[in-house]
Amino acid sequence: MVHAEGVRKHYDRLEVLKGIDLTVERGQVCCLLGPSGSGKSTFLRCINHLERVDGGRLAVDGDLVGYRRSGTRLYELREAEVAERRREIGMVFQRFNLFPHFTALENVMEAPVRVAGVNRADARAEALRLLERVGLADRAGHYPAQLSGGQQQRVAIARALAMKPKLMLFDEPTSALDPELVGDVLDVMRGLASDGMTMVVVTHEIGFAREVADTAVFMDAGVVVEAGDPRQVLGRPEQERTKAFLSKVL
Ligand code: ADP
Ligand code: MG
Repeated sequence: MVHAEGVRKHYDRLEVLKGIDLTVERGQVCCLLGPSGSGKSTFLRCINHLERVDGGRLAVDGDLVGYRRSGTRLYELREAEVAERRREIGMVFQRFNLFPHFTALENVMEAPVRVAGVNRADARAEALRLLERVGLADRAGHYPAQLSGGQQQRVAIARALAMKPKLMLFDEPTSALDPELVGDVLDVMRGLASDGMTMVVVTHEIGFAREVADTAVFMDAGVVVEAGDPRQVLGRPEQERTKAFLSKVL
């Protein structure tokens, strides 16, 4: 579903990604860990077509990000094509960014109705089903300000799922939450994983990564330092940088 080979990205002279190799198979969960500034968010943004890759190859579901093939030639994607591909990828951020003047239900219905042209009755039925899936069936009529941070984040997950993505990206989805609200959000993500959703999750929740991830990737300063079975990478790391990081977050 995601295949990166030597992916490079720089902002002016700042090299942020220095050749990332990473593969996420369909139905798998990949947890990305690493210190602040190591390039994790930038890498997710590349996968989601929010940043242009400067070198190497990055493909999502077999399609090169930023390019399409015609015969043996590569063509840059037009804006409309990028938008189309982005619809197939759900993204959940640290800050939930719900529309404050929409209820939970309206937040989940918005993209299917406005972007995908689904009729309101169908969108509403699907949104209610999704809110139930994230444990918020009884909060459909609440506005974001009336919900806890954890509930808002679960609405944000339901909103991303409403577009029926083939891949879900999470960028530190629980980092902004009070500790007692983290568990409910992780439970929803655990459920998604066991339903077979392909997920790339940037997180510092080591317990979640060990339990749910098929692969754990430790990044530092724009490179993959160590990757593989989470029990190995997070339980018995080989690299000093991984050990030092884990001793700080555990
Ligand atoms: P992480 O998510 O691992 O904390 P980021 O991908 O956010 O790391 O950032 C990696 C580096 O790239 C940091 O040094 C950050 O300051 C820099 N960076 C991120 N976005 C931009 C941008 N739009 N312009 C310039 N520098 C950026
Ligand atoms: Mg980040």
